[in-house]
Amino acid sequence: MDFSFVAETFQNMEQTSSRISLTNHLVSLLKKTPTNIIKKIIYLIQGKLYPAYEGIELGLAEKLTIRSIADSIGISINEVDKVYSKLGDLGDTVAEISTRRYQQTLFTEKITVDRVYNTFEKIAKTSGSGSQTTKLRLVTSLLNDATPIESKYIIKFLLGNLRLGIADYTMMDALSITFTGDKLKRDVIEDRYNICSDLGTIAELLAQRGIEGLDEIKITPLKPIRPMLATRISGPEEILERTNNLVAAEFKLDGERVQIHKDRSKVELYSRSLEKITENYPDIVEAVNSIKIDKFILEAEIVPVNLHNKILPFQELMHRKRKHNIEENLKKYPIKVYLFDILFLSGRDLTSFEYIKRRRMLEKVVAENNIKIINLIQQRTLSKSSQIKRFFSLAIRSGCEGLMFKQMKSRYRAGSREYLWMKLKKEYDKSLGDSFDLTIIGALLGKGRRTGYYGALLLATYDKETNTFHSTCKVGTGFTDKNLEFLYTELKKYIINKTDPRVVTKMKMDIWFKPVIVLEIIASEITLSPIHTAANNLIKENFGLALRFPKFSRIRFDKNAEDSTSSSELLDLYKIYLKKRVPG
Ligand code: AMP
Repeated sequence: MDFSFVAETFQNMEQTSSRISLTNHLVSLLKKTPTNIIKKIIYLIQGKLYPAYEGIELGLAEKLTIRSIADSIGISINEVDKVYSKLGDLGDTVAEISTRRYQQTLFTEKITVDRVYNTFEKIAKTSGSGSQTTKLRLVTSLLNDATPIESKYIIKFLLGNLRLGIADYTMMDALSITFTGDKLKRDVIEDRYNICSDLGTIAELLAQRGIEGLDEIKITPLKPIRPMLATRISGPEEILERTNNLVAAEFKLDGERVQIHKDRSKVELYSRSLEKITENYPDIVEAVNSIKIDKFILEAEIVPVNLHNKILPFQELMHRKRKHNIEENLKKYPIKVYLFDILFLSGRDLTSFEYIKRRRMLEKVVAENNIKIINLIQQRTLSKSSQIKRFFSLAIRSGCEGLMFKQMKSRYRAGSREYLWMKLKKEYDKSLGDSFDLTIIGALLGKGRRTGYYGALLLATYDKETNTFHSTCKVGTGFTDKNLEFLYTELKKYIINKTDPRVVTKMKMDIWFKPVIVLEIIASEITLSPIHTAANNLIKENFGLALRFPKFSRIRFDKNAEDSTSSSELLDLYKIYLKKRVPG
């Protein structure tokens, strides 16, 4: 298959804003793709070479990329730099420069998807001394034969800048239409995706054997599962109402969620967004290796502690993300792991077991293995409001964020957010306000003391059904100087000329961003707003919902934009607030 068709499809996708036409472009690309390379095509669309959880980044250095462009076109680095500083994107730069050269070239060899993919793979695998020269040679030779539009997407891919804005849901719609004729099988596909997190394999099985092919996908250690999520609730009364007066409550610790996979001597740790984080925690790997069971998948929260085992704020885990002095950091920044679920044990998938049965199995694993630094999360079965309140204050006094509530008979529903798991956070107690995870979509430039940084950031909810982001507040308070500086540098990577096609807003901002970075915000009230678009028209025509007095609390590195609070969650909360305000 010619790479030119892929590059043209990418170009069309970048220029469209509607989800329907994005899906159509995907479908026509997938229909033309031979089965033996469909996996590769899926990963390329996602800007990757393998499933995201493999964590293999190409991330070619900018300097080397500029040099390859210069070499392949036969111009100086200075000339490339000049165009680059005008256009601000190296993909656009190579397209513009090579258009001039390309028109003079009569014969070029057509490049195939296989060749592009294999070259990318070679680049990813090249390391050690002399690797820069090898990489330069590989990129240059590819660019030599590429058309301007092919070059553009090759460069964007190599730099990690290929962001087509295709959510997993759109991809699953497209797979369903391509291989089964309509969207109706999307749910079956999603169900399988939730337990293997690999759309490449799903596409390949669909292409080979249709929807029945997906039966082959089973929960397996070393393939991360999409995590089950919790819904926010208003307080003890609602919990008891939803659980028929019997519920399991667990401490809700504020740390990093981890999926621990073991398959004989191999251990991998995956974050909430299913990235490999094994390297950050050699102490967990060592402890897990001491468990005398061949294969399992556990879920836990990692928390930082001090030398007296007292739980510290979540931010302390940042020290573990450094690539240097790992050994020293292990001692300086100790952690503890609190297990809260078990999903696989010695060849058996446990996700269809009831919560309470899984908990008993987890307790047994912990009791039979004396595992350093790994503990069970505190849990109780409760049936009265007074018990819930008491356990809640114990949790807060013990350094937790709140409580998690789990329906006794619930199975583990990978990737779902329902009322099977519910959460009650500290803020509920204090009328301090609720916390929201929102995506940054725009900014106003700072003035006065904030000159050179952003003065306020525009934040949005995310709606999975429509794959759209809706503005809900501007936040300008709660930031330290360090936060401001960090966000200013980080956000530079995501600046775009106009609003992202998935963003719906009436706001006028100085700068727009690709929706990537998520912030946690505390706000004290939700109000109707004529200028914000979250839950637009759902309560009143031309009005959306806005957060009042929003305050920055932290950057959620562990969340993707698509994990943001949704407009319907905001709407539910708005209704709760309304009820609370009505006397009696
Ligand atoms: P939130 O990020 O506010 O939606 O809360 C859900 C997160 O709480 C999960 O993703 C876990 O990281 C964390 N958590 C802490 N304790 C528990 C627990 N006992 N059960 C499940 N999740 C927990």
